[in-house]
Amino acid sequence: MLKSLSGLWCSVKGSIQGRETQNNMRTLRSGRCVPGSAGPSFRVAGERQREWVVPNPPPVPQTLTSAVEELLQAYTTSDSNPPDEPCPICMCSLQCPSDCSSQDVTDDEGVVKLTKCGHSLHKLCARMMAESKQHFIPCPMCKTVHGVRLGNQPDGVMEIMTVNDDLPGFDCGTIIITYRFSGGIQGREHPIPGHPYRAHAFPRRAFLPDNERGNKILQLLEVAWQRRLIFTVGTSITSGQENVITWNEIHHKTEWENYHGHGYPDPAYLDNVTMELELQGVTEADLESNGNRNLE
Ligand SMILES: [Zn+2]
Ligand SMILES: [Zn+2]
Repeated sequence: MLKSLSGLWCSVKGSIQGRETQNNMRTLRSGRCVPGSAGPSFRVAGERQREWVVPNPPPVPQTLTSAVEELLQAYTTSDSNPPDEPCPICMCSLQCPSDCSSQDVTDDEGVVKLTKCGHSLHKLCARMMAESKQHFIPCPMCKTVHGVRLGNQPDGVMEIMTVNDDLPGFDCGTIIITYRFSGGIQGREHPIPGHPYRAHAFPRRAFLPDNERGNKILQLLEVAWQRRLIFTVGTSITSGQENVITWNEIHHKTEWENYHGHGYPDPAYLDNVTMELELQGVTEADLESNGNRNLE
């Protein structure tokens, strides 16, 4: 299955969204699905399961320069009346960019405002940030992502299914996400290219309430998955193991109940994970642009 889906994704052309190929709906296996952690066994709710692997990385834009200029054009506007504040990157006054000549900032391109959050910085400093990130400009003041942030999550599979059983604190059924990975060799985007990485403690499962809010968060997680933001390769905080696939700052509820503090109830969780997704640049605006794809 993995192999054939991989092939399918390899044929996806164009944007990272690749939405047109995502509806890999398949009939649920009959029988029961028992999660890895302790908890109730699950009844299968119906034909509401889908599965897909990470698409290939998006095509690298034509040249770095044109990609950077596109980013600047799309996410900055000229600030002709900059505030009397230091630039958050070079700390030189925004009103006197030429003051920075001692710091190699010799060309005065003026000041720009980031379009989403309105914070100002030297255009030259914005360009430097865009060049280092390539697909997005993170605001140095408030971290708002301008553009599309892409991670380095290795190839894997994300499966989604629903069950009738209720999480503590909910009475709407439950979405179960299963992440599957295998080990491999680190690529250029990883900490030690050419070195192996391991997939420790997979598959991993996570739970969301199957209500409107839970489904919205599921859709945001799907966007994050496609952008390779949910996992990364590095050192595991919990086990200390190096060169393993680890979570990447988007917390998941991996327990049904709070056996070790990773389950329900947790009244703040849905707000918190929404905020964590936003810090990665994944917001409801991404769902609008991708079309709203509730599970049916
Ligand atoms: Zn600056
Ligand atoms: Zn900002």
